[in-house]
Amino acid sequence: KAAGRGVVCAFDPAMERDVLGAQRLSRDLALAIESDELAMHYQPLVCADGLPINGVEALLRWHHPVRGWISPLDVIEVAEKSDLIHKLGDWVFRRAFTDSRQWPDLVTAVNLSPVQFRSPTFLDRLARIVAETGADPAMFELEVTETVLITDLGEAARKLARLKEIGFRVSLDDFGSGHAGFGYLNQMPFDKLKIDRSFIENLRVKAGAEGVIHSIVGLAQALGLSITAEGVESTEQHLFLKQAGCMQMQGFLFHRPMPADALAALRNSLRLLQESA
Ligand code: C2E
Ligand code: MG
Ligand code: MG
Ligand code: MG
Repeated sequence: KAAGRGVVCAFDPAMERDVLGAQRLSRDLALAIESDELAMHYQPLVCADGLPINGVEALLRWHHPVRGWISPLDVIEVAEKSDLIHKLGDWVFRRAFTDSRQWPDLVTAVNLSPVQFRSPTFLDRLARIVAETGADPAMFELEVTETVLITDLGEAARKLARLKEIGFRVSLDDFGSGHAGFGYLNQMPFDKLKIDRSFIENLRVKAGAEGVIHSIVGLAQALGLSITAEGVESTEQHLFLKQAGCMQMQGFLFHRPMPADALAALRNSLRLLQESA
């Protein structure tokens, strides 16, 4: 059908490979959740002034024994299609809650998939993991994307409000990349907007990119939201964003995602440096 009306297509063997490949991948993912193949890495976020680390984002990593590293976006897509997303989401929370004991002074951001967030069992599952791990919700920020707001705004607002009651912070990830517009923003209890990396990439590349960032920062300020820029790769971007009033940043210019023990070691050496200065 995709080829258009009246066009007859021969069966494409690549399509079969795709379906089989996806089935195999979801079976492998089910096993990976039970074994040690999955990992969480943590990317430090920094304050625009002086660049001290003032937060981290937890990012899923899967090293497949045959296919090698698989992008978390692909992992999440496979998981959402095969119903593994709930198990995977639980695994992510459990691991992030446990690992973050190594940096109790930093807020750890955890990403939620739209399918995971919409599930009627989501809040109960999360509450159970909080109880099991003894995590303090105030030290975690749950990131959702505009996708969760598109289908049922009222339901999304209620769920976000529940998360806030439990004590979590909630942020809107990849802001501006979706199709949700921004009229909904003042009905949502967000604490933070994360400016999508594409806007930062456009700086000095696309006419008007500076103005767009000024507008997003202005919008966040008007609504009393804090703001983070993601994907900062150059000092030029850093300086522009800082002058624009964006106080928290995340990007390869500062730190790449790393395993939990590497983050703990990094913080120890930064502390030593500071003490000896
Ligand atoms: P995200 O939540 O927007 O996470 C930020 C992504 O930007 C990460 O990609 C990070 O490695 C990358 N990044 C950070 N700084 C830079 C930079 O300076 N330049 C470039 N080019 N990239 C930068 P990653 O780890 O590949 O994750 C991709 C996406 O997968 C995430 O985007 C998030 O949507 C999703 N994801 C990752 N982990 C999880 C998870 O545990 N659960 C769910 N549901 N989604 C996850
Ligand atoms: Mg995120
Ligand atoms: Mg993001
Ligand atoms: Mg992003």
